[in-house]
Amino acid sequence: MILVSACLAGVECRYNGSSYPIPEVVEMVKKGDAMPICPELLAGLPIPRPPAEQQNGMIISSNGEDQTSDYLIGATIALKIALLINCNKAILKSNSPTCGCGVIYDGTFSGHLINGDGIFAKLLKENGIKVCTID
Ligand code: SF4
Repeated sequence: MILVSACLAGVECRYNGSSYPIPEVVEMVKKGDAMPICPELLAGLPIPRPPAEQQNGMIISSNGEDQTSDYLIGATIALKIALLINCNKAILKSNSPTCGCGVIYDGTFSGHLINGDGIFAKLLKENGIKVCTID
């Protein structure tokens, strides 16, 4: 089974209540070949919510709140689901502090990118699940 970031499947779960649908991902979900998941919603974070970025290993919202523990809870629950469904691959939204893979925003809320993984992408990789990203 393949996991996909729910926002890539057209679910309006991003911080500003938008989605980022990718037609191929939507089609995979419709056919039952992939399951959408949003770790931030699993953490109980609201829609809308302030954007957040990683800063020195923590996840900080744009209003300065340390939300690392919330984001970690969501990523851990999402990992549990991934393992339950025998997920072997995930297609995740780029640049996100949760789902980003290889490249994430740098914590300055200025659009700059740095090398790094989102908290969920990192957990998946550590558990042997292949992760790729889509812009
Ligand atoms: Fe999309 Fe992942 Fe952010 Fe949820 S946590 S809105 S699935 S990028």
